[in-house]
Amino acid sequence: MSRQALDELKQQISLLDYLQGQDWQPARRLSRGRWMGLCPLHSDHKPSFLVDPGKSLFYCYGCGRGGDVIRFAELYHQVKFPQALALLRQWRGLAPLLHEATDFYRMQLHRHGEAVAYLHRRGVRSPELIEHMRIGYAPGGCLRGWLTRLGYPLHALRQAGLVTAAGYDAYLHRIVFPLEANLYGRSISASAPAHRFLPGVKGGLYEWERVRRYPEVILVEGLFDYAVLWQAGFQNVTCALGNHLNARQFRQLCDRPRTVYLTLDADANGSGPQAAQSLSRSLRERGITARLVSLPEGHDPNSFFVGGGNTQQFHHLLERAGL
Ligand SMILES: [Zn+2]
Repeated sequence: MSRQALDELKQQISLLDYLQGQDWQPARRLSRGRWMGLCPLHSDHKPSFLVDPGKSLFYCYGCGRGGDVIRFAELYHQVKFPQALALLRQWRGLAPLLHEATDFYRMQLHRHGEAVAYLHRRGVRSPELIEHMRIGYAPGGCLRGWLTRLGYPLHALRQAGLVTAAGYDAYLHRIVFPLEANLYGRSISASAPAHRFLPGVKGGLYEWERVRRYPEVILVEGLFDYAVLWQAGFQNVTCALGNHLNARQFRQLCDRPRTVYLTLDADANGSGPQAAQSLSRSLRERGITARLVSLPEGHDPNSFFVGGGNTQQFHHLLERAGL
């Protein structure tokens, strides 16, 4: 890679964006737009990691390491220079592609009655909610054409997982919810697997930046659970996209003292309550107050509201949640 191509890559990827994409949070603002925060490269207890967004450089007063975004990727992912470049190029390429795909799917939603009807069946009605969650629909058979006309090469679409190896749209008849660096697709047809993600990580907790300021947080498993709670006026809800938290989601929940209402599904096979019990133990070990919300037999938050449950009734469930 030439010097010029390297400089271009560094210009296109802001160090601060990349750090935040890896869940780094600035703790304190310094003069000249610089930030201090915990060092993601060593086990840091008081902020010693300095970021200068203007110069796109970092330096850690704890472990003494510093440099540009490429150096950061090398150290953070523990890879050599060429792999760090590849990771950064992939990161740069994926974001605009997912953005375009999201916009396209959102345009499709109201053109497809079957998608809107499915949303209604799951209790998703308010236009504000659809806007807030940027919900779209993948009819299948048209995303590839749209993105290639916009100039995205086929190999990039395949690499992102939007198009299959055989060249077809990967998401077909799916309601699509954009995540930080992925797209969740819920099949509206019973003959396909219900849940799909693009290859790569599911990311952190849903909408965490909005939710983390609340001293009490409701944690649910699925985005349709999130949707009905948000629609019912619960702003302090977040979603794990499954009944197990990844390491990053766990760190997020523990980033300050708070109460977490675990509202995981009451599955018939008991895996939901088990997951909730073990999660509540781990949270308590980290000083978080975990409360287990019991839904009526056989219900998840989505079916609770779809079945006629209302805001007040859910408030009662929260009040009755056990420790
Ligand atoms: Zn450090």
